[in-house]
Amino acid sequence: MSRLKIAIEAVHRACGLVQDIQRVLVSQETIAKSDRSPVTVADFAAQAVISLALNQALPEDQVLGEENADFLRTETAQAQRSRVIDAVKSITPKATGGMVLDAIDRCSLSDDLPEAYWTLDPIDGTKGFLRRGQYAIALAWIERGQVLLGVLGCPELSLDPHQGPGVICSARHGGGARLRSLSSQQQSSMAVSRLDEPAQAAFLESVEAAHSAHGTHARIAAGLGMKAPPVRMDSQCKYAALAHGQGQIYLRLPRDGTYQEKVWDHAAGALLVEEAGGKVSDSNGHPLDFGAGATLKNNTGIVATNGHFHDQVLEAVREALQATD
Ligand code: AMP
Ligand code: MG
Repeated sequence: MSRLKIAIEAVHRACGLVQDIQRVLVSQETIAKSDRSPVTVADFAAQAVISLALNQALPEDQVLGEENADFLRTETAQAQRSRVIDAVKSITPKATGGMVLDAIDRCSLSDDLPEAYWTLDPIDGTKGFLRRGQYAIALAWIERGQVLLGVLGCPELSLDPHQGPGVICSARHGGGARLRSLSSQQQSSMAVSRLDEPAQAAFLESVEAAHSAHGTHARIAAGLGMKAPPVRMDSQCKYAALAHGQGQIYLRLPRDGTYQEKVWDHAAGALLVEEAGGKVSDSNGHPLDFGAGATLKNNTGIVATNGHFHDQVLEAVREALQATD
């Protein structure tokens, strides 16, 4: 089986698991109390399931995941530890508690990253997961700073009008982007919107105002003559939507100069958009540098488009930023 197929199957399994966890644990009550435990259990369980699957099929491959098991190993986390272990056992019955915790910890790599590795965000868009909005399971294979494979599992995303929500998007560098529903094996290709008039474009941005500069985005949109209101969505589902023609622009301008974007938050999504025919850069037009460690420390902000007017968008970004200086 190819690396990509193994990754798709692992993400597919994890999608089913986190949907089960969400059904049982995310009630209105827990959301109102801002109880983060459902997302904690889902995060750890998804990372364990994917780590176990990769380790079984590709034992040499290393994984850089967002989580580690330090918290779960503490005395106070006993209840959550049991819930994570039980969840993983429900689909991997042979796993022991120790194996589950070790599988999570196997995804902790030192800062000195290997030449090739997987990067995993087991639940990207945790706030979306809690409010039953969009979230994604994101897995990408990076080799010498280049993203070669990307998989996004998006259990709540509808991209095909003939199917219900729940898709897996995948891409191979130079090999295009593909879409399948969570409930069928059938694949179709993904392509960005052909719209070439920015004034008619729609743009995507985070729901969370803390994650990007909504005010700057509004000025960029105005500068391009865009009338449509922003489409707000949590997680890398924004990249998936853009890659399938639902919107033409994704803006992620930093709110301040200190935050460094994480590789697991962008690797799979950025490859997906490029392989669907779009363009992804930082806000200065530089390519995203996935060879600088666990963060995109050589980049500022993210601008992704359908590729038809990327330079115009970058020009509007420059003007909007100058106006605020
Ligand atoms: P989104 O759902 O697109 O808003 O992105 C979710 C991701 O934003 C999370 O996985 C976090 O890693 C990341 N994040 C957290 N804080 C910030 C921040 N200040 N700026 C940008 N991204 C952030
Ligand atoms: Mg994330």
